[in-house]
Amino acid sequence: MLIAASPAELRASVSAWQKEGLKVGLVPTMGALHEGHLSLLAKVREQADRVVVSIFVNPTQFGPNEDFSRYPRQEEADISLLKQAGCDLAYLPTVAAMYPQGFSTTISVSGVSEGLCGNCRPGHFSGVATVVAKLLLQGLPDLAVFGEKDYQQLQVIKRLVLDLDIPVRILGAPTLREADGLAKSSRNAYLTPEERKVAPSLYRLLFEAAKRVQAGEAASLACFEAAKALIEAGFAKIDYLEVRDADSLAPVEHPKAPARILGAAWLGRTRLIDNLPLT
Ligand code: AMP
Repeated sequence: MLIAASPAELRASVSAWQKEGLKVGLVPTMGALHEGHLSLLAKVREQADRVVVSIFVNPTQFGPNEDFSRYPRQEEADISLLKQAGCDLAYLPTVAAMYPQGFSTTISVSGVSEGLCGNCRPGHFSGVATVVAKLLLQGLPDLAVFGEKDYQQLQVIKRLVLDLDIPVRILGAPTLREADGLAKSSRNAYLTPEERKVAPSLYRLLFEAAKRVQAGEAASLACFEAAKALIEAGFAKIDYLEVRDADSLAPVEHPKAPARILGAAWLGRTRLIDNLPLT
């Protein structure tokens, strides 16, 4: 497995492969890799000849009171996991390489980035859009895969790539879960054993609310009751629990087109997010 630390090294490898006629796919991550990340790598493998995984804990997508400094970092373990998983190139840029002195450009995507996590984490999606645009333009892979686990992020990235004519195909991949339904996440490492037992209620209650909306109940009522049940289960605070149109993310009360139920809630000091499709 090759390792690149600068945009120039990344571009050199990707363009050399492309000159040989090989297709290259990218999986952007913040490291602390788990099976969810590896499922994205497997998805790239289906569509591309070479797989690049980037690991970069992007400071600009964390708010001042968020978990940037304590975000799990395990570079050596990540690298050996990527080697085992058949990754062809790991891209690990430094903060200085990504944000050279005087860095002054921010990309902000309106519409899909408003509401939901956009409300609770001001500036988060500008940080995401900017770093993802940089990663895509630095590597110019043929395709890039993002998880539906971060559904709003996936919609923001699709919009960004369309609006800025970035010539990279964006694919979404389904959420990989623990046996009890909890979405796999690097942040699950923060949970105490007690919190870990409560955590799957987020998935369970989203699932139940989705079923009720599918059966004709108004989304706001089903979400209100699910939020109440989450607090009863032991969650400290609900950031949001809503049904939205699956593409535009506009709020919907009685979905007629594909929709998504999305939730974010705090378990102690840990913020968990999850979402499910409504059929
Ligand atoms: P992160 O390292 O958390 O920024 O995630 C990197 C990529 O992995 C993003 O596209 C996430 O949506 C995706 N991802 C995170 N957790 C999962 C999961 N449980 N299943 C599938 N994809 C995931």
